[in-house]
Amino acid sequence: MRVLAGAIAVLLAACVAAEAPAAPETPTPAPVEVVDETNVPPPPARMALTCAGAFTQGGVALCRTVPNATISVDGAASGQSDAEGWVVIGFTREHGARAQVQARAGGESAVQNYDIAPREFDIQRINGLPPQTVNPTDPAVLERIQRDTALKQTAFRSTANIEGFLDGFIRPVEGGVVTGSWGNQRVLNGEPRDPHFGYDIAVPTGTPIRAPAAGVVTLAEPDMHFEGGLVFIDHGQGLITMYLHMSRLDVRAGDTVEQGQVIGAVGSSGRATGPHLCWRMKLRNTQNLDPSIAIDGLAQARRELLAANQ
Ligand SMILES: [Zn+2]
Repeated sequence: MRVLAGAIAVLLAACVAAEAPAAPETPTPAPVEVVDETNVPPPPARMALTCAGAFTQGGVALCRTVPNATISVDGAASGQSDAEGWVVIGFTREHGARAQVQARAGGESAVQNYDIAPREFDIQRINGLPPQTVNPTDPAVLERIQRDTALKQTAFRSTANIEGFLDGFIRPVEGGVVTGSWGNQRVLNGEPRDPHFGYDIAVPTGTPIRAPAAGVVTLAEPDMHFEGGLVFIDHGQGLITMYLHMSRLDVRAGDTVEQGQVIGAVGSSGRATGPHLCWRMKLRNTQNLDPSIAIDGLAQARRELLAANQ
C-alpha cells in the first residue's frame, strides 16, 4: 500500500523523494568566492563575445559582450545583454552536441560555437497506477489545476530588473540526500510522461530554504494542488528558481531577497510522500534547466570571464 501511495504521488507531483533511488549526500556548501565589484573590468568597447559556464544538457552559462546586444542561441532569440554586457543563457535537456551563440549590436555581430556535453538520464517506470490518477477528471481538481497553471504562467513571464545571477548560486539547503536527479524520464502505466525537471533533496521538515542568489519573489503560494507551498524567485533576465512542497513561506510576491536569505522551510505539502525540497530552474519561460549545475556553473563562469577580460 505504501508503494502504491508513493507511486500515485510521483505521478501527480512529478517530484517525490521516496520513489527515487538514494544518491550520495550532497557536499557541504563551499563559501562563494566574492568578486571584487569595485574592480570589474568594463565590457568590451567593440563587438566581441565570450561565454563560460556549464556547456552541458540542462546547463547554464554566462556571456559577456557589448552592452544591449541582441543574443541568439542556435538561431532562437535569447534575450539581451545588460548595460555592462552580461547575459545568461541555457541549454535544454534535449540540446544537441553543438551550440551556436550570437550577439548582434549596431550592425555588427560575433559568433561563438560550443560543444554541449550529453548526459545520461535514468528512466523511472511506474506501473499499476489507477487510471484516474494518470488522467484526473474530477472537475473541482481540474479547476484548481487550471487556476494554479494561470498563476505560474504569470510568474514565469517575469524578467525582474535585478542581476542576482551574477552572484553565483549557493545551495538552498544544507546537507541532505539527493533523491531525484534532474531530467529523469518517467513512464507511467507504460505511457511516457514529461521528464522530472526538479532536483530533489531530502531534508527534514522545517529545514530553512535560502535564496541561492539575490532576486525578486514573483510567486509565493502556500497551497498549490501539486506543488503545495510554492515560491518562485527571479534572479534577473528571466532566470527563475522554484521551491516546491514548502511547509512555511517567509516571503511574499514582490519581495526582494538577498543571497542566503531564508525564504521559508522544507515540507511535504502538495503531492509528496516525504519531506524534501524539489528545486527547479527555468529561463525566460522556455528552458527548463538543472539548478544543481548552476551552483558551480555560474560562479565559475563569472570568474573565468572576468579573468579573460583583465
Ligand atoms: Zn522533484
